Amino acid sequence: MDITNAPLPIRENEPMDRHTSWRAGGVARYYAEPGDRAAALALAAWARAHSLALIWIGRGTNLLVRDAGYPGLIAMYRAQQWWIDEHSDTATLTVEAGAPMAGVARRLAAMGWAGLEWAEGLPGTVGGAVVGNAGCYGGDTAGVLLSADVLVDDVVETWPVERLAYAYRTSALKAARVAPGALPPLVLSASFRLTRDDPAALMAAMQRIAAERKRKTPAGSSCGSVFKNPPGDSAGRLIERAGLKGRAVGEAIISPIHANYIVNTGAATAADILALIDLARSEVLRQFGIALELEVCVV
Ligand SMILES: Cc1cc2nc3c(=O)[nH]c(=O)nc-3n(C[C@H](O)[C@H](O)[C@H](O)COP(=O)(O)OP(=O)(O)OC[C@H]3O[C@@H](n4cnc5c(N)ncnc54)[C@H](O)[C@@H]3O)c2cc1C
Repeated sequence: MDITNAPLPIRENEPMDRHTSWRAGGVARYYAEPGDRAAALALAAWARAHSLALIWIGRGTNLLVRDAGYPGLIAMYRAQQWWIDEHSDTATLTVEAGAPMAGVARRLAAMGWAGLEWAEGLPGTVGGAVVGNAGCYGGDTAGVLLSADVLVDDVVETWPVERLAYAYRTSALKAARVAPGALPPLVLSASFRLTRDDPAALMAAMQRIAAERKRKTPAGSSCGSVFKNPPGDSAGRLIERAGLKGRAVGEAIISPIHANYIVNTGAATAADILALIDLARSEVLRQFGIALELEVCVV
């Protein structure tokens, strides 16, 4: 395919271990990084004109590309601007989807705006959080989101939070099946509800969250929690009780610290990681009759 007429630079056969926090996985046949809304819209139009399958990503912190690679275009949306519309003790934050969730939360807290402080230390972008309903330490995206601007085909739509049909670690966007020949929706920006608070108290709360996150998170390359917690239970507890803590395949290991984390200890392949995923899923089903559901997105 001729990529010289693309609206922005396209890389060929881009290793996705460079763009995922697991540091593993195959290549994207084509790869691009649109830096603003106009570039993303132009890229989507170009992909559609060339019948090229497309996946939008944030920072790849909840993503695994199989070793066989992806035959289409993977696009990392990098637009990061944000602005605040103040109304006395409340405000609306509008932030572009490529902005880092934790970085924005920290800047807001320092300015005395509460709403996102639970996201301290959360890896990934606003877009990834909107799609996956990221949450931790008493908060989640669904609890503070007002609306999101979403590119659907070639139209930018504003989706109120209700339309995202949020549930635990999922949304209408994450669950959507893309019709053959259609492009998946792109979250362009999101608006969040903020309330005024004491900056010192907010910063102190975030420091406590940072310390707890540091204590609980296994070191090394991972994607965070691999499985969703089943209702009333914890995936990590079930995998640990199945006797799988510390189990390794190739250079991937079920963390001895937190059994819902699989850590790449060096040069793990996606196949190593997927073998551990299959092992955890089949052992938990066999021993406890519980079918674990993936939180991470496998391409
Ligand atoms: C060490 C570690 C700790 C973690 N802790 C937590 C935690 O406490 N709580 C939690 O919820 N998660 C946690 N995670 C997982 C991860 O941080 C979140 O899922 C995050 O929201 C993913 O954001 P991302 O930008 O990296 O998305 P990606 O991994 O790039 O993408 C995830 C999915 O969203 C889609 N997507 C991303 N951006 C867009 C966009 N703009 N438009 C359309 N689709 C898009 C992708 O196609 C993919 O399906 C952790 C991960 C790590 C590595």
